[in-house]
Amino acid sequence: MSAADQSFITLVQQSRYAMAAVALATLWTIESVVPMFVGREHRLSHIAANFGLAAINAAVSAAFAFAILFVTEWAQVHHFGLLNLVPLPEWLQWVTAIVLFDCWQYWWHRLNHRVPLFWRFHSVHHADAELDASSGVRFHTGEILFSFLARLVVLPLIGLTIPQLLVYEALSLPIVLFHHSNVRLPGRVDRRLRWLIVTPWMHYVHHSRWQPETDSNYASFLSVWDRIFGSLRLRENPQEIALGLDRWQEHEWRRLPGMLAAPFRKLSSRDRQEPPRAKPVGDRPQHGV
Ligand SMILES: [Zn+2]
Ligand SMILES: [Zn+2]
Repeated sequence: MSAADQSFITLVQQSRYAMAAVALATLWTIESVVPMFVGREHRLSHIAANFGLAAINAAVSAAFAFAILFVTEWAQVHHFGLLNLVPLPEWLQWVTAIVLFDCWQYWWHRLNHRVPLFWRFHSVHHADAELDASSGVRFHTGEILFSFLARLVVLPLIGLTIPQLLVYEALSLPIVLFHHSNVRLPGRVDRRLRWLIVTPWMHYVHHSRWQPETDSNYASFLSVWDRIFGSLRLRENPQEIALGLDRWQEHEWRRLPGMLAAPFRKLSSRDRQEPPRAKPVGDRPQHGV
């Protein structure tokens, strides 16, 4: 890796943390003034638990950095992977890299809902009944580990470089924090934004307790994937959505030790295999809106 690449990586990393900090502080303030879901009583302890999980994940991510660096450099040197085989102008290569990786993120998320082992870990994210910006970093460390292992294969296949990966993460993180936030965004604003990015009104539906809604809206950055792959669902009034998962409401699972232990608790079957829940009032699936 060249010195220019290294200084670019440092710049993107620092920008990413700065952008995330500004986004979190801004969203926290707006959530306090105009919340979508009212009656939140434990905002500070909720945020502390979610950030605790994020801190553990940051340490794990740092441990994987060398492996990610190795496979992406290997792909560059050996001209391996889609982007290294197809000659494109540099700007188009960057756009293609970000779009392809975002498409992978969509399918990876979908796989996390489909494969029972993955769902055990991903359900820690869905168990959050008090969605706010901090929920955007609430992922079980096991899910992060699986994600890194998958990336060791997918990144060389796409031919993504480390700078492209970091720019993708710097762009997508504020969007992820935004669409988890408890900001009461007007419907018309959300409708316009969701032509390009995943918005709160889209992602609240993904956090619904009603499984057909939980298994929808998998995109995390560009909203186009849910339209293309037919998984877009919307509600006329997001405030009617019951957030979280039915079997994860005890206080124990809301604290950091409980969240870490949750995927390992004994279940007779997958916790989603429960009697079909009634279709909620106000459910009006809309596609392509
Ligand atoms: Zn999910
Ligand atoms: Zn989410």
